[in-house]
Amino acid sequence: MNLNQSAPPVPPFGQPQPAYLGHHQSSYGGQPGSTTAPTSYGAYNGPVPGYQQTPPPGVSRAPPSSGAPPASTAQGPCGQTAYGQFGQGDVQNGPSSTVQMQRLPGYQPFGSAILAPVVSQPAVLQPYGPPPTSAQVTAQLAGMQISGAVAPASPPSGLGYGPPTSLASASGSFPNSGLYGSYPQGQAPPLGQPQGHPGAQPPQRSVPLQASSFTPPASGGPRMPSMTGPLLPGQSFGGPPVSQPNHVSSPAPQVLPPGTQMTGPPGPPPPPMHSSQQPGYQLQQNGSYGPTRGPQSNYGSPYPGAAAFGSQPGPPQPLPPKRLDPDAIPSPIQVIEDDRNNRGSEPFVTGVRGQVPPLVTTNFLVKDQGNASPRYIRCTSYNIPCTSDMAKQAQVPLAAVIKPLARLPPEEASPYVVDHGESGPLRCNRCKAYMCPFMQFVEGGRRFQCCFCSCINDVPPQYFQHLDHTGKRVDAYDRPELSLGSYEFLATVDYCKNNKFPSPPAFIFMIDVSYNAIRSGLVRLLCEELKSLLDFLPSWVVEKVATVGNNVTFYREGGAEESAVRVGFVTYNKVLHFYNVKSSLAQPQMMVVSDVGDMFVPLLDGFLVNVNESQAVITSLLDQIPEMFADTRETETVFAPVIQAGMEALKAAECAGKLFLFHTSLPIAEAPGKLKNRDDRKLINTDKEKTLFQPQTGAYQTLAKECVAQGCCVDLFLFPNQYVDVATLSVVPQLTGGSVYKYACFQVENDQERFLSDLRRDVQKVVGFDAVMRVRTSTGIRAVDFFGAFYMSNTTDVELAGLDGDKTVTVEFKHDDRLNEESGALLQCALLYTSCAGQRRLRIHNLALNCCTQLADLYRNCETDTLINYMAKFAYRGVLNSPVKTVRDTLITQCAQILACYRKNCASPSSAGQLILPECMKLLPVYLNCVLKSDVLQPGAEVTTDDRAYVRQLVTSMDVAETNVFFYPRLLPLVRLSAGTKSPIENTTEPPAVRASEERLSNGDIYLLENGLNLFLWVGASVQQGVVQSLFGVSSFSQITSGLSVLPVLDNLLSKKVRGLIDSLRAQRSRYMKLIVVKQEDKLATLFKHFLVEDKSLSGGASYVDFLCHMHKEIRQLLS
Ligand SMILES: [Zn+2]
Repeated sequence: MNLNQSAPPVPPFGQPQPAYLGHHQSSYGGQPGSTTAPTSYGAYNGPVPGYQQTPPPGVSRAPPSSGAPPASTAQGPCGQTAYGQFGQGDVQNGPSSTVQMQRLPGYQPFGSAILAPVVSQPAVLQPYGPPPTSAQVTAQLAGMQISGAVAPASPPSGLGYGPPTSLASASGSFPNSGLYGSYPQGQAPPLGQPQGHPGAQPPQRSVPLQASSFTPPASGGPRMPSMTGPLLPGQSFGGPPVSQPNHVSSPAPQVLPPGTQMTGPPGPPPPPMHSSQQPGYQLQQNGSYGPTRGPQSNYGSPYPGAAAFGSQPGPPQPLPPKRLDPDAIPSPIQVIEDDRNNRGSEPFVTGVRGQVPPLVTTNFLVKDQGNASPRYIRCTSYNIPCTSDMAKQAQVPLAAVIKPLARLPPEEASPYVVDHGESGPLRCNRCKAYMCPFMQFVEGGRRFQCCFCSCINDVPPQYFQHLDHTGKRVDAYDRPELSLGSYEFLATVDYCKNNKFPSPPAFIFMIDVSYNAIRSGLVRLLCEELKSLLDFLPSWVVEKVATVGNNVTFYREGGAEESAVRVGFVTYNKVLHFYNVKSSLAQPQMMVVSDVGDMFVPLLDGFLVNVNESQAVITSLLDQIPEMFADTRETETVFAPVIQAGMEALKAAECAGKLFLFHTSLPIAEAPGKLKNRDDRKLINTDKEKTLFQPQTGAYQTLAKECVAQGCCVDLFLFPNQYVDVATLSVVPQLTGGSVYKYACFQVENDQERFLSDLRRDVQKVVGFDAVMRVRTSTGIRAVDFFGAFYMSNTTDVELAGLDGDKTVTVEFKHDDRLNEESGALLQCALLYTSCAGQRRLRIHNLALNCCTQLADLYRNCETDTLINYMAKFAYRGVLNSPVKTVRDTLITQCAQILACYRKNCASPSSAGQLILPECMKLLPVYLNCVLKSDVLQPGAEVTTDDRAYVRQLVTSMDVAETNVFFYPRLLPLVRLSAGTKSPIENTTEPPAVRASEERLSNGDIYLLENGLNLFLWVGASVQQGVVQSLFGVSSFSQITSGLSVLPVLDNLLSKKVRGLIDSLRAQRSRYMKLIVVKQEDKLATLFKHFLVEDKSLSGGASYVDFLCHMHKEIRQLLS
């Protein structure tokens, strides 16, 4: 990099404006005039100067192609997207407004106006019966298995499911779950005869209640009596069942849980809804939905049949089986669609304090006008209670999910880099907060008052500037640190370790060459790939943008130069082999270190080299490694000494860096960090279950601490054939900010595409090394707890040996004083790090939040997706120390307290039988249920101990978008993609999702399901033959190969679109999702059902409906 290079004259903050055409969002292109930039923002936010495609700054170079597997090559875009630096940005920038509404039969489109983001609008579940008796409650609980620890191997009888799926192979050697590892074809376990799907169509309902959170309030007539349905085994209702004619023709009647019954009246089909006009909804916008009042005329007629509700003539009729209509409870899909429709077309401008951003599932552009983009920081609430008493009452966790180095979509520019020269960035003398837009300049500009601690500081002469009549510095808009939410400073030598500017980091590749690694083909594949991949090491340079004022220079990331990253190579089994790849050598030289108990690095000169200079020697080494160990019989490996060696090498070279470890087995060879097989599934649901998540020795924590001190980040690629103790092996990656990848039963032919995609992405990731993150807050709140992949040696500094653009740190705040409504609350996240080019920098993110004295304001400004991110991380950490059941119960209780507090303080008085949910939190129950029944908290029989530890570790550093889709997978119907569709859909356009329930599957359709880690293509048994032919190239359903992982490349529109969609989904995620084709009713269908999270799970997890009823009961108990 070259900071002094000349740059084309660019006006200060000539911020590259969004290239809307590059954005798969057609509506942008059609609204060139829609910019909302206030004129006062002049140079920053002037009119968008054009919609032409602009190359993304700092975009990575093209991918190497030599190593691409045939499938990848054939699929074209797949290989490309795997390399995209900004792939993940697509999560937020995929299509939205072009999405066409689709509903399954019986699933009426919901008017968009209903969906207006009226944040204060509560969701109400209205019962038509008296509160349940205690007997009812008990019965309900028994039927739902909510809070009890449930034996994983006892599927509910009578559901027609097969026996619990034990995916263990017959030999018992390795139970491959297929969920987190690969799913070897043909190795699926014998599963019970799968149950037939409940038909091609969702159950027909004569009254398709809308998929909203609302139900019709009972009108003035006689209230509906309580209804009962067939009782679940062991369930009985306390009250006399009263019934009425059934209007629901569901083929599988379910119990209508007490307290939340819903039904429509008998009679003629409902009139068509006019839900696009919702004036009547205004009644509900004040947080009260009203009790079971009289007819609400301005309710409009959104609920067919509602009007007839109160006018039901005569005494109650005997009640046929009823069910709680899933369409009548809050739908994640509807909420996502509404937000896309309402907020996807306008940029999110960050100038206003306390604004709730669009959902993570919505595409939107961000314009920084003083607060950090939601891509960097999302909060559980954007309006914080003024007092700790209020906060305790509400029980809403106050947390921020921070992704300091988040990658941005191409349309958004990376933060400016400001160079203040030798004086360094300006900070508050007392609290050390960095200069930001919220600092108040006083005394004509000679001093400034810190917005965090109120300290008055002098303005250094070189930073002085006059103020305008409003007290603002006249150069405010010329300086990023005075007008933007996010920016960087070049750090001075004071910010460097040992007061010395850092060297560029190094990457060390450490390859297991034991028998398993050789036999599976891993070593050969990896060496072949590295030959080309090393040409694509990250370079992270900045270009000068402008010089303003007193020699302050601004830079932007951009331009690609040769990477400054050096590389080194180690192979190992029971001993370690170091390689000298100095450019002057004709051949690489190997040095063996067999004393693994006292690891040292046998060579310094020639171990870490520049890739270009040593190209020939490196290539020669990578050619030789597979041959050298081809006949190895060594099965034992060491692990801790490998990390130790890498760390010592970096220490000797006086640089930070990253170790890429490729490891296959439990390290049982005699050496430090030796492990034993301690897997014991019998511990599940006991008080000792937590030990499964704990490391079996403290040696790795000690090692990790040394790594952090050296800025040595460890990325671990695991290729286990059996238990490897992920809980212990992942300790160092976890504490050093690294990543863990796991490929169970790795086979080159089945898994190479996934592994190579992950490897390429991982190696090319831009990483900040040797990083320290500090979150400062204004007086009244402070950061008290942290979740993520990092190390902390004190209570405030988050230490990260490495931090990449995917990693997230979740921070919880607590009050320590009263907050002020007027001044609000401020967060400032400062990340000090070394770039891949070896430059020491500070990245600053600022965010201002509102404060409130009314609880309703808190509930109006919450973000459920972020709450779930926090709650999942809290729970997943909790299992290290507490019984899993305790962790689950804690979550349920907290959720009930949150909702009960709303009900008590914010909703208008109403009958106790109503479940009233705050509009912003109406998905809290469904999402929380997904967390509760996740593999960590309620594992199925097929989930291995390693899988659980792996997922636990993954979730810990996920961002909000990732936890959202991980816990509630996306299910996309595909038949509409077929050629006959009226409006052609672009390859990358996603069809609207449907709810993750078996009931939503039509056997005439094909679906893609993804959760960020897994990708399934589910094929209904009655799919048209033409579709089967187009997609699979075979003539009938029966000829489709179950478990297929690559779709044939066929030259027709449907095939292209589906493959394009798969590529697009993969590009949005940080890890490659291997495809698994599942045929309806075949043996893999059980695996697939695991992801239909609205349904009751085989491991005993409650269905959404049942869980909602349970939450309702909990809330009522709290209120009574
Ligand atoms: Zn201060």
